[in-house]
Amino acid sequence: VLTTLKEYYAPDSGKDVVKLLKKFGDRALILAGGSFVHGLAARDLLSNIEVLIDIQKLGMNAIKSGKRAIKIGAMTRLGDLEQFPEVQSSAALGAVKDALRYPPVQIRNVGTVGGNIAAACPYFDLSTAMMALGASVKAQGAKATREIELDEFFAGMFENTLKSTEFVTEILVPTAGPGCASAFLKLETNANDLAIVNAGVLVEIEDGICTTARVVLGGGVAETPVRSPTAEGELRGQRLGASVLAEAADAVEADIDPMSDHRASAKYRKAMAKVLTRRALEQALKRLN
Ligand SMILES: Cc1cc2nc3c(=O)[nH]c(=O)nc-3n(C[C@H](O)[C@H](O)[C@H](O)COP(=O)(O)OP(=O)(O)OC[C@H]3O[C@@H](n4cnc5c(N)ncnc54)[C@H](O)[C@@H]3O)c2cc1C
Repeated sequence: VLTTLKEYYAPDSGKDVVKLLKKFGDRALILAGGSFVHGLAARDLLSNIEVLIDIQKLGMNAIKSGKRAIKIGAMTRLGDLEQFPEVQSSAALGAVKDALRYPPVQIRNVGTVGGNIAAACPYFDLSTAMMALGASVKAQGAKATREIELDEFFAGMFENTLKSTEFVTEILVPTAGPGCASAFLKLETNANDLAIVNAGVLVEIEDGICTTARVVLGGGVAETPVRSPTAEGELRGQRLGASVLAEAADAVEADIDPMSDHRASAKYRKAMAKVLTRRALEQALKRLN
């Protein structure tokens, strides 16, 4: 379907990827699992692309638990992340486990974690969940490697803040303490559709009090997943009883400006964002108990 394609490269080092990005600029596109690239090409949205840079030979598909963070290679398949024992067992990684339930098995087998994040699609689920966990990406570029927090990574619909010669090598999820739990929920029209709204939350509780809260909404509430500092402020410093959760969930309204499209109206998205936030908070707390 990519009729404009002239050249295909499969480099085996990060340096060569950067060289190719530098050489071909806007005419080149990185190819990971190809599940999103295929959709863009089918919709004729890649008419400027003449060069594909396939990054499969770089490996980058290991998951390692470090002291500071869990390091997930950009080419890790969604299905392999789902099977990672800590994702299955840790309350803090609950949002990732929840988010990976939604993509069809065929997509979990080919789609990569790096591709999901780099696509910067506001309707994806893993990106919302990862942002709720305070994750960041490691980007390799022409001169250096740098870390970009997901809070700063999503720049707009299908736009990220990578420089033209940078690509993602790793996703870093900060290691969380024992009082930490997260959860994620998606509202969809059917099991194969993108999110109408999704919500990822993380809370940390010490001596019964919420010390850290992250609330992230996605799925058409804006052109990127967005944090809700107002909701987070309602949670921090509180004992998380039912009324605090309800107030925090209602507060997300202040931080989102949803779109209306064929999936749902802005008004419906706003109403559902509150419901999903409350239920995700309840789910995270359940995990802690
Ligand atoms: C039918 C269907 C259902 C889906 N359902 C869901 C769902 O329920 N929930 C959900 O979250 N997602 C869903 N997705 C999205 C899916 O998760 C993504 O398409 C997939 O993760 C993208 O990974 P990929 O390796 O295929 O990326 P590719 O298609 O290869 O690349 C995606 C984009 O990222 C760029 N890119 C890829 N890797 C890198 C890198 N390392 N550095 C820089 N740029 C890079 C590419 O150039 C491209 O622009 C669905 C997709 C389909 C087709």
